[in-house]
Amino acid sequence: MTNPPTTALVTGATSGIGRATAVQLAAQGIHVVVAGRNAERGHEVVAQIRAANGRADFLEADLHNEETAKRAAAEAVVLAGGRIDILVNSAGIFPFGPTAETTEEVFDAVFDTNVKAAYFLVAALAPLMAERGAGAIVNITTMVAEFGANGMALYGASKAALGLLTKSWAAEFGPKGVRVNAVGPGPTRTEGTAVMGDALDAQATLGPAGRPGTADEIANAIVFLATDASSFIHGAILPVDGGRIAV
Ligand code: NAP
Repeated sequence: MTNPPTTALVTGATSGIGRATAVQLAAQGIHVVVAGRNAERGHEVVAQIRAANGRADFLEADLHNEETAKRAAAEAVVLAGGRIDILVNSAGIFPFGPTAETTEEVFDAVFDTNVKAAYFLVAALAPLMAERGAGAIVNITTMVAEFGANGMALYGASKAALGLLTKSWAAEFGPKGVRVNAVGPGPTRTEGTAVMGDALDAQATLGPAGRPGTADEIANAIVFLATDASSFIHGAILPVDGGRIAV
């Protein structure tokens, strides 16, 4: 980018990794549109950012199809004062379970939120970034998009799709100045994984770090890929997983 980014839309910013990312981006002086479904938690994130003299606005959005994604993109542009420089696709759901017990409803919900919504957010915002010749998009995938994990077939497949989209979008939008990358977290303590209890620690012991990550540790990598410190990085999926997929 020639000019530093000044605005960002972070989906899933009402919780966990997305919230940590929104707070960190705001601490860099970036005006953040905090998107999520839960208005109470969304306003809390905005209040936290403003209390630290940052700029943020809440955007209530249930992201699951082209219409909801494109509406959210348009509203985010207005809230941010006319443009979005950074898009972070952190909204996601991860219902685990055996393939034979997965309903079509759950299958569709996982792909609708994890893939379709991200797809149409990029479809709406990346061309606007390309018109300005600058922008950054960071998708959040997962370590289980990189290897087969019992009980995570559907979730892993949805994030593997997002991983390939990351590379494809890098090819499509990179030449127009828009960098598209992804972060692949390992087990991370968030509200969303709280129900996993000890299973999260058990997953984490399989990697060199031997412990779950924190939302801030994942956000550190997201912010790196979203800002100019990573200006020569396109189409990368950065594992932030305590080394799990390396061993
Ligand atoms: P989380 O605490 O459960 O937060 C998920 C966020 O996604 C919430 O802000 C939620 O909004 C939002 N969201 C879910 N469905 C949505 C929908 N239909 N429309 C709009 N927003 C929706 O999850 P997390 O642990 O921070 O995970 C964040 C991302 O990292 C996800 O994509 C996840 O797959 C990925 N990831 C997480 C881990 C981990 O161990 N935590 C590991 C690898 C990858 P509301 O709360 O407002 O409903």
